[in-house]
Amino acid sequence: MNPAVDIGYTVETLKMDTVNRTQKVSKTPGGKGLNVSRVLKQLGSPVLATGLLGGHIGAFIKEKLDEVALENNFYPIQSETRNCIAILHEGLQTEILEAGPTITPEEQAGFLAHFETLLKEVDLITISGSLPAGMDETLYATIIEKAAKASIPVLLDTSGKTLKIALEAATKPVLIKPNQEELAGLLGVPEATTVEELKKQLNSPLFDGVDWVVVSLGSKGALAKHEGVFYQVSIPKVNAVNPVGSGDSTIAGLAHAIAKGESVESILKTAVTAGTLNAMEAQTGFINMENFDTIFNAVTVEKV
Ligand code: ATP
Repeated sequence: MNPAVDIGYTVETLKMDTVNRTQKVSKTPGGKGLNVSRVLKQLGSPVLATGLLGGHIGAFIKEKLDEVALENNFYPIQSETRNCIAILHEGLQTEILEAGPTITPEEQAGFLAHFETLLKEVDLITISGSLPAGMDETLYATIIEKAAKASIPVLLDTSGKTLKIALEAATKPVLIKPNQEELAGLLGVPEATTVEELKKQLNSPLFDGVDWVVVSLGSKGALAKHEGVFYQVSIPKVNAVNPVGSGDSTIAGLAHAIAKGESVESILKTAVTAGTLNAMEAQTGFINMENFDTIFNAVTVEKV
C-alpha cells in the first residue's frame, strides 16, 4: 500500500554539512509487496501487483514494472508516491525514509472498490508491509473479509497494530509470517530463545483460526505451526550476501506452493528455499532459480 522508489547513492565517505557528489546511483521500484511480486514471477507464478501509486514517482514505478513485464494494476492517488534513500558509505548504510503520502477517505474507498474488481482475477492474495497515513488500521482486516467472501485465501505479512487488528477480526488470514522480533512484539513478551518457548508463544489464542503461522528465523530457517502440528525447517549453510527482502521472498515461496496445492512439506521447503536464495544474492527481492533445486533438496522439515 505504500511502495517507494528505492534510491541508492554510493559515496566513498559521507561528509556532513557540505556537498557530497556521486555517480553511483540506482533507482528501482521498492517496497515489500513488489519484492514478493518479483520473486513470485521468478518462481513461475502468474502475479498481479496492486496498491496505491501517485504522481511522477508513481508513474516511474509503473514504467519500471512494465519494462520487466511485471503485471500491475495500481489505484491512482493524488499525492506523490515516496522515495526512500539509502546512502552506502564506508561500509555503512545510512537511510532516509519518507513517510509517504496521506490517503484521503475517498481514495481508500476507491481502492477497496478497485480491489474488489481484481478479486475476480486471482486465486490467492499476499499482503505485505505497513499502511500509509490516513488509511484505516482495519484496512487489511476488511480486505481479508472481502477475499474470504470470494473464497480467496490471504497471506498477511505485516506487524504491530495492523497485524493485531487483523488477527482479532472475525475472519482470519490463512497465513502470517512474523519473524521472532515481530512475534515477540505482537505478544508483548521477550523473544523466545528455545523451540519450546517458541511453540508456547505460537499456542497463544491470538493465532486460533489462522491456518499457518510461519516464524522465520533468519539463518536458522523457520518454525511453523499448521493445523496444530509444529514443523522445524532447517536450511543448509550458505554464503549470505544480503538477507534484506528474504522474508518477502519467503512469502513468495509460501504463496507459490500453497496456490499450487503442494504438500505441507513442499510448501515449507519452497518457502525457506526462496528466502535463502534471496539471502545469497546482492539484489533485494531477487532469487537465482539455477540454485533452486540444490537448496530445496538440502532443506529439511521435521515435526517437533
Ligand atoms: P526481511 O524483513 O529482511 O524481509 P525477515 O526478518 O522477515 O526478513 P528472516 O527471518 O530474516 O525474515 O528470513 C527469512 C528466510 O530467509 C529465512 O527463513 C531463511 O530461509 C532466509 N535467510 C534469512 N537470513 C539468512 C541468512 N543469513 N542465511 C541464510 N538464509 C537466510
